[in-house]
Amino acid sequence: MAAPDVAPQPGTEWDEAQCTAALALLEHLQAQIDDLRLALPRVIEPFHQPPNPRMFKLYVQGVVGSQNGIKTLREEWKSSETQTMFEHTKKSLTANPDLSASTSIPSHGWTERERKERESRKNKHDESSDEVTLTNEEVTRLISEVQKAWPNLHVDTRDDNHIISVQFVHESVKLKFRVTIERDANGRHTLNGKCLGTTEPFLTITRCIASRPQASDLKYLLNMVAAYTNVKSKECAKCEKIFDNTMSTPMARRSRQIVAADGTTETRWEAFHESCLS
Ligand SMILES: [Zn+2]
Repeated sequence: MAAPDVAPQPGTEWDEAQCTAALALLEHLQAQIDDLRLALPRVIEPFHQPPNPRMFKLYVQGVVGSQNGIKTLREEWKSSETQTMFEHTKKSLTANPDLSASTSIPSHGWTERERKERESRKNKHDESSDEVTLTNEEVTRLISEVQKAWPNLHVDTRDDNHIISVQFVHESVKLKFRVTIERDANGRHTLNGKCLGTTEPFLTITRCIASRPQASDLKYLLNMVAAYTNVKSKECAKCEKIFDNTMSTPMARRSRQIVAADGTTETRWEAFHESCLS
C-alpha cells in the first residue's frame, strides 16, 4: 500500500476513458440493484390478480427472474473489473478526500457516453466529416415535424431545447421518454435517449434505444420513440415470434426503407426483440 503522503505515480492515474468506463459500470450495477428492489413485488404480483391459469407460470417467472438477477449482480460485483474499480476509488479517496467536485458529475448517462466514446475512438478516422451541427432552431423544427407526423405524442422541451420529454399511453402503459442534447465546445452534440422507469420493460427499451444506429440523428431518435405507439406487426421482424426464449416481447424499434413499385421510398418501423438485434 502506498503511503498517503506520497503523490500518486503517473502510471496509477486513470485517464478520462477509464473513469467513464468505471462510471458506466457503476451505473450498470446501480440499475441491477434498482431492479432487484422490485424482486418481491414481482414474485407476489400474480397472487394479486384474479385466479387464472397463468398464475403459477408468472410466479415461477418472478422467482427465477429474481434469482438470476441476484446471481448476475453477485458475479459482476465480484468480477476483477468491479473490484479494481473499488480499489482505485479507495486509493483515490485516500489521496484526496475532497469529494465536492463529484456533486457536478451527472449520475446517469455513463453507459451511453462510454459506448459512444468507445465507438468514436474506433471510428475517429472517418467520423470528422459527417457531424452535423444541431442548432436550437433545428431542434424546434424537428420536434414540430415529428409532432405533425405523430399527433398522439405529447412533446415538451425544457432547458432551452436541451431536454425533450415525450410521453404517450401505449397498450395501457404510460411510456415516458427523455432525450437530452449535450453539446461540446466544438459544437458537436451527443444525444441520450432514455425510457423513464427502473423496471421492465422500461430498462430494456432504454437499452434498445441506446444501441440504435445513427446515434447523433435527432430526427431518427424521435421517430424511434414515436414508433413505440405504432408498428404494423407485434411480432419480431427477425424471428417472427411474439416471445423470445426469455419470454420477452419485441421491445426494440428499428426502421427499414421500403421501395414501392413506383420507385418511391417509405420508412417502415418494425419491432425486434432485444436478443434479435444484430
Ligand atoms: Zn425476435
